[in-house]
Amino acid sequence: MLRLSLLFCFSWVALHLCNSPCSAEFIIQVNYTGDQTYKPLFDDAALRWQSLIPGYRNGFVVNRTSGSSATIGSQLTTLRINASVVTIDGIGGVLGSAGPNQYAIDQQSFRLATDGSMQFDVADVTNLVNSGVFDDVILHEMAHVMGFGTMWNLNSVYTDGSGEFTGAVATSFWQSEFGQTGTPNVELGGSEGTRDGHWDEVNGGAGFTNIRDPLGRDMRYELMTGWLNNDSQGSPFISNMTLGSFVDIGYQANFQAVPEPSSLLFASMAGVVLLIPKSLRTFRKTSGNSG
Ligand SMILES: [Zn+2]
Repeated sequence: MLRLSLLFCFSWVALHLCNSPCSAEFIIQVNYTGDQTYKPLFDDAALRWQSLIPGYRNGFVVNRTSGSSATIGSQLTTLRINASVVTIDGIGGVLGSAGPNQYAIDQQSFRLATDGSMQFDVADVTNLVNSGVFDDVILHEMAHVMGFGTMWNLNSVYTDGSGEFTGAVATSFWQSEFGQTGTPNVELGGSEGTRDGHWDEVNGGAGFTNIRDPLGRDMRYELMTGWLNNDSQGSPFISNMTLGSFVDIGYQANFQAVPEPSSLLFASMAGVVLLIPKSLRTFRKTSGNSG
């Protein structure tokens, strides 16, 4: 009995301790400061991305930017994000900023974000919370810190102004998941923080793209388009194309099984459409400039 319970305890402790650091090769470590009310939202977003992005394709660091927390000659495991909800300029104006600040280069020449930041203006956060979308916005912005739209140029999968994402894995899902030809369309409209860093949708987010996944979900509801569409359909979805784009910049991905389409599911899209530009004043490059 004693042995059994010891074993049980040991297993439980081991499981418990290993919950994030031992079972995941990719850890999003959020260092959050600010109103603690919002901390769980950042932790939830980190867990969500970790469940979808379990590691790096290679991740063995051969070089890094000078301010990176990565160690040359070792396996990268962690993306460190300083996150905060602070007073910036009141309602409107600057919503905040998010993006990677430093990166490592691995053996396969992937440029991998190692350090980044997410900052939100508390006045705007209140509105986002009241609209029930702050969790979606955090999830979206965290993807930018991981490299979505921000590490594309460095990984040679996108050229600004081209409107075409050229990574092979995302391209395969653009075709198989969304029934399109060629390479995924990238947003060219909107402000500097919006264009060249999101999947394309109708400018301003209003209107359907008529590009749909097997469930009938229009691209406008994808998490990584430039405007947040939140209506009767509920939360944005994360496509395999988005996960594939992370593979194209050096991550592994747990692709999602796509259920059979339901003809009724999205037959009616009536409801209040809430359009929020998802782009904050995103740090678009890792060289330190923001825009
Ligand atoms: Zn964005």
